Amino acid sequence: MKKISSLTLVLSDTCNFSCPYCPQQKGKNTLKIRDIRDFLDLLRPRLDREAWLGFYGGEPLLSWPLVKKTVVYVEKNFKNKFRFTLTTNGSLIKKEHILFFKKHRFELVLSYDGLAQKNRDVRTLPAVEAALKDLQHHYPDGYVINSVFTTQTVPLLAASMEELLGQGHRRLQYSLDMCVPWKKTEQEALAKQLDRLVTIGMEYRQKNGKMPLENFTESKMKGTFACFAGRDRLALLPDRTVWGCYLFYDLLGHDPANPDYAKYCFGGLDQFMSAPAQGHAGIAANYAELRQDYFFNEKKVLCSLCADLERCAVCPVVAALATRTLAVLPGWTCRIRRITRAAEARFNAAMSRFSGAMSRST
Ligand code: SF4
Ligand code: SF4
Repeated sequence: MKKISSLTLVLSDTCNFSCPYCPQQKGKNTLKIRDIRDFLDLLRPRLDREAWLGFYGGEPLLSWPLVKKTVVYVEKNFKNKFRFTLTTNGSLIKKEHILFFKKHRFELVLSYDGLAQKNRDVRTLPAVEAALKDLQHHYPDGYVINSVFTTQTVPLLAASMEELLGQGHRRLQYSLDMCVPWKKTEQEALAKQLDRLVTIGMEYRQKNGKMPLENFTESKMKGTFACFAGRDRLALLPDRTVWGCYLFYDLLGHDPANPDYAKYCFGGLDQFMSAPAQGHAGIAANYAELRQDYFFNEKKVLCSLCADLERCAVCPVVAALATRTLAVLPGWTCRIRRITRAAEARFNAAMSRFSGAMSRST
């Protein structure tokens, strides 16, 4: 394993929402501060010079005392080692939380689906929108809004992002629910929405000189994508098991009989702590094989033969949430990737033409 630059603590599997696209199974497991201290202390020698410590759930604000205790412990025992991040549905955020986040320089990921939020759970709207206003007022640089669109809500994508851009949020991103197949008509609807979003984005960028929508930021990724799980990151789950990335738990964590469970789970925390580092090498080697050039589609055609290989990055777990088989990418995943990448390329090409025209006119 490389040096660890990212640790995720999935504090509990309880949540106050039931989002239709969430792959997590709800439960009543919760981490204890003792588990978190043991996990962090054990990994201290393997931490990179700077690392991210992420709080995740369920809804992590349901475990607020645990967030505070962990931050106090880390600040005392790991001086300046970690930056914190927390992913939340936003419904429980109060001013007290925001001031704490600001004091400890958290980077928040707030899940809010714009015009599609009412399809998610209409009761959540007032609380989440109030939290967004408070965040914008007290900690405008501290959060990114992630909006998820499904095959049903994709017709709301462009208008939702336009509204969020108009509200002046500094960082936005859209994601797609990839747990269920996208039919041809739904792929076409996505392509239309992204065409519109490119136009909205270009107008916004020309007027404001910036682009808060991170999907349109040109990727600095060079070479072939490889999943980072178990290589430079680890996650501690609420049932005290350790995985290379929390997403593997969503896929395999409730199915110990699945042969992939033993292949990708580093074991329970006690086992993880008692096994010498070499004991983890076999599991780490399994993660190391999750590279884009080793993936293939349902017809057994390898991504390594694809002309787009170096421009493509598909999370193997997200793809497997639909196929149930790691490293096998369904054909529609591939088409969705091509549609989103084409929109990014159109936006960036238009921006280069615009910058070129501006510099010629000055
Ligand atoms: S590619 Fe997916 S599974 Fe791998 S580290 Fe990223 S989010 Fe986790
Ligand atoms: S576009 Fe499809 S075939 Fe090509 S690298 Fe990406 S997932 Fe693989």
